[in-house]
Amino acid sequence: MSATEQLTEMYELLYERFGPQSWWPGESQFEIIIGAILTQNTNWANVEKAIANLKKAKALSAQPLYQMNHDELAALIKPAGYFNIKAKRLKSFLTWFFGEYNGLLENLEQLSTTRLREELLNIKGVGPETADSILLYAFDRPIFVVDVYTARVMTRHNLIEAGCDYEQLQELFQSNLVEDVKMFNEFHALLVRVGKEFCRPKARCNGCPLEKLPHTIE
Ligand code: SF4
Repeated sequence: MSATEQLTEMYELLYERFGPQSWWPGESQFEIIIGAILTQNTNWANVEKAIANLKKAKALSAQPLYQMNHDELAALIKPAGYFNIKAKRLKSFLTWFFGEYNGLLENLEQLSTTRLREELLNIKGVGPETADSILLYAFDRPIFVVDVYTARVMTRHNLIEAGCDYEQLQELFQSNLVEDVKMFNEFHALLVRVGKEFCRPKARCNGCPLEKLPHTIE
């Protein structure tokens, strides 16, 4: 079976079992961006609390967040953990957003995917997974987001070497699947789901939706 066939079958099996995952939770494009920065190194439930605090303070839009001082912002996002670091990251994003693009999302919409990705990666504290989550989930760009769950499933299914880097793993999907925002959106979310429920550090292959596909567990 080719990599394309294996990935396609994986997607179908996961979708059949779990159904649509409705990612990314967020009421606006801006909220998705902020959520993508806040979710680094924490679980989503904690991000939701931080986002609820921002909403309550009427600070979940560009201008109020840009004008808020560091300490106030850090206090509001405290539930998301690493709040001082994350407040700095949000401020770095907003400084770039207002400095270069007048704080207008429509100005970012004008950029090519390559350019927007490069610019996001230049913001301190925005790594590939965060940048790609913003591109895919906030801007509907056909970029495949990968993470530790993706790496674990793909390695165990012998689709990539253990220890591959982010770009190699991303390339596995982008070179073997047609560009499809909706499918990329679902596939990433489904891989996170199977990674959390079955493909944990100690694999639970029994009953996993991907159990019938060839895999190797060390
Ligand atoms: S738990 Fe087993 S069957 Fe499921 S994805 Fe991981 S290696 Fe594959």
